[in-house]
Amino acid sequence: MIKQNAWEAAFDVISLLEENGYEAVIVGGAVRDSLRGHPANDVDVATNAVPEEVKAVFIHTADVGISHGTVLVIHPLSPVEVTTYRTEGTYQDHRRPDEVHFVSSLAEDLKRRDFTINAMAMSGNQEIIDLFGGKEDLQNGVIRAVGEPIERFKEDALRMLRAIRFSAQLGFQIEDSTFEGISKQAKDLHFIAKERIKAEFDKIFVSEHPEKAMQNIKQSGLDEFLPGEYIQIGSWENFEAGMESWKGWAFFCLLQPQQDVKIMHTFKCSNNEKKIVKDIIEAYQSLISQGWTKRHYFEFDLEVLKTAYVFADYLENIPTQPKSVEEIEQNKANLAIQKKTDLVVSGHDLIKWSGKKGGSWLKETLEKILTEILENRLSNDQQHIKEWFLSERDSGI
Ligand code: ATP
Ligand code: MG
Repeated sequence: MIKQNAWEAAFDVISLLEENGYEAVIVGGAVRDSLRGHPANDVDVATNAVPEEVKAVFIHTADVGISHGTVLVIHPLSPVEVTTYRTEGTYQDHRRPDEVHFVSSLAEDLKRRDFTINAMAMSGNQEIIDLFGGKEDLQNGVIRAVGEPIERFKEDALRMLRAIRFSAQLGFQIEDSTFEGISKQAKDLHFIAKERIKAEFDKIFVSEHPEKAMQNIKQSGLDEFLPGEYIQIGSWENFEAGMESWKGWAFFCLLQPQQDVKIMHTFKCSNNEKKIVKDIIEAYQSLISQGWTKRHYFEFDLEVLKTAYVFADYLENIPTQPKSVEEIEQNKANLAIQKKTDLVVSGHDLIKWSGKKGGSWLKETLEKILTEILENRLSNDQQHIKEWFLSERDSGI
């Protein structure tokens, strides 16, 4: 298992650093997740060895973030990020420290971390070092800032959104003074790059409790300081997160009064993300206004149709047709033709049969043929289509 490898590699790295006279521990998310009995995303090591010393201990390393003290150790089981204990200097811009200082004490390093549940360490013999009550907060399901919340959010405004994101991932409550800190410093969110805010929303959208996060964003007033013009948060109670964040973006867009992808431009979503969300909005709107024709089933991907349908249900615009997701699958599968390239005639055929020159009529006619086939008035058969085409032409089309 990959995760197991990451742990083994990290413990190996710790042993070797210790053999060379240094101190080293596992820190951050991996400690939190292992105490919860969940697989960790990445198993990070912190040490009192400075980067040059780390590089001298291991044969294979890569400089991934030397300036902030990180060396990647290429362990055969899994690469391990090894970061020198550090504190952060002053924060001029509410997002990044102006400089980092390497320190020799683990306690100093843990103190600069954001939340108590993220500020624990695990030694090579699996002892937990917990200086801020992280274990208890983990047991009680609490997100609590390390130290004075307002100060911590002033230093780095992204932490406010991180608190909310962790509450959504873990289903935890944000402790009162931490939450107050967010309410007080919400305005600082505008210092944070849109891409980093988007990345937090992506995580919220695939988390266990997006509704919790969205409610916290509204209650803390962070919504007023999100990028772009005022964004409506709306109710996420019925929204069920999927595996992919575009579902969340699509739902978010549908909750805006104008129901378009404008907020996705603001948050710098990718073109692919915007494309699928545009499709979902279009499918949603046609479903609740006049229902889907065979043409809609043809044009939209199954995933788009299903998502639009489920959203219509959440947003209480329940359509009369289709009646279920299974019905959507059937309707799509039963189409006479699945994609344009399945059409057995081309523009060349039409030119040959008509003796006319190419032009905009070609595309129009091919579209018309497609509609006739989808509506089962014509079969996808060369001869049949030719007869239809010639008789249509004779009737003046
Ligand atoms: P995930 O499972 O999402 O990766 P994580 O806890 O590992 O969660 P990371 O963003 O990978 O989160 O950061 C690793 C650790 O670094 C955190 O656990 C925390 O101790 C510290 N950290 C990260 N970002 C900040 C921040 N903005 N301010 C203070 N500490 C931070
Ligand atoms: Mg991590």
